Amino acid sequence: MAADKDKADPIILGDPPDSSDNQVLPFAIEGMEVRGRAVRLGTVAGQILAAHAYPLPVARLLGQVAALTALLGSIMKIEGTFTVQARAKGAVSLLVADFRSPDELRAYAEFDEEKVAALPDAAPIRDLVGDGHLAITIDPADPGMERYQGIVDLAGDSLADCAAAYFTSSEQTPSEVRLASGRDPVSGNWRAGGIMIQYLGRQEQGGARISDEEKEESWSRASILLDSIKDEELLDPALTLPQLLYRLYHEDGVRVFGAVKLKRGCRCSDGKIEAMLEAFSTKDREDMTDDGVITVTCAFCNRDFTVAAA
Ligand SMILES: [Zn+2]
Repeated sequence: MAADKDKADPIILGDPPDSSDNQVLPFAIEGMEVRGRAVRLGTVAGQILAAHAYPLPVARLLGQVAALTALLGSIMKIEGTFTVQARAKGAVSLLVADFRSPDELRAYAEFDEEKVAALPDAAPIRDLVGDGHLAITIDPADPGMERYQGIVDLAGDSLADCAAAYFTSSEQTPSEVRLASGRDPVSGNWRAGGIMIQYLGRQEQGGARISDEEKEESWSRASILLDSIKDEELLDPALTLPQLLYRLYHEDGVRVFGAVKLKRGCRCSDGKIEAMLEAFSTKDREDMTDDGVITVTCAFCNRDFTVAAA
C-alpha cells in the first residue's frame, strides 16, 4: 500500500464524471442572431487559486479573470496565447490570466496585503483595483502573424461589465457577460463560471426574414434572461452547462456546439528560467545569488527553480 505522502494532493477533488467542469461550451439561441459561450472551472480554478495564499476578495476576482480568459481565449481560431491583464493603482495592482491554445489556462495576482485586509470581503471591483485598465492581447504562435492588443478602462461595477464594455465599444458587437467565482459550500473548493452572449444581428447581410425591430427585441430578451442567473447557478457543480443554458433559454431553444476542455497549465521550465537569467548582467546575477544558487519563483504556479550561479 502506498504511503500517504504518495497520494495526490487531497485538497483538490477530482471532477465528478458527468460534470461540466473545466470546459467552455459555445451555444446559439434558436431564431435569434445571438451566439454565446459558457464556462465552468472546477479543479482548474482550485489549482490556479491554491498556488498562492490569496485573500478572499483577490481570489474571487482572479477566479473571474480566469473564467473570462477561458471564455474569450477559446474563441481564438489560430494557435497562440490569449492574455487578459488588469493593471491598476488600488489594493490589487495586477490581475493576469492567459489561455494557450488548445487548452491551457493559468493566472496570478499582485496585491498589497494591508490594503486588501482593510477592505470588506465583498468589496466591489472599483474599490479593489481603483483606476486602471484592462488589456486583451493575442500573441499568435506563428511569428509571421501580427500581435493584437485592445485596451479598455477598468470602469463599471464588475469585471463582467468591463469586458462587455470592451466588446461593445472596440468590436461594435453588443455583448453581455456574467462572471462568478467562489468556494463550493460543500467541498470548500474554489470554482468559477461565466456566460457571454453577443448580438450578431447588425453584422448580417441581406436575408431580411427577421425585422430589425424583432432582432433588437430578441437581443433585449436574451440580455434580460442572462441577467436573471444567480451566481450560485453559474458555479453549481450539480447543474451542468447544458442544463443551465436550457433553464435560461428553453423558450426559444438553445443549440450547443463542441465543448473546449480546459486544464491548468504553466509554461515555466528550467530552460526558460535560465534564458531569463542570462538577460541580466553578471553583477545583477551575483546580487541574486545566495549560497551559490539563484532561486527564481514562477509568478503563475509558485514553483521554485534553483539555478547554480555561474
Ligand atoms: Zn509556472
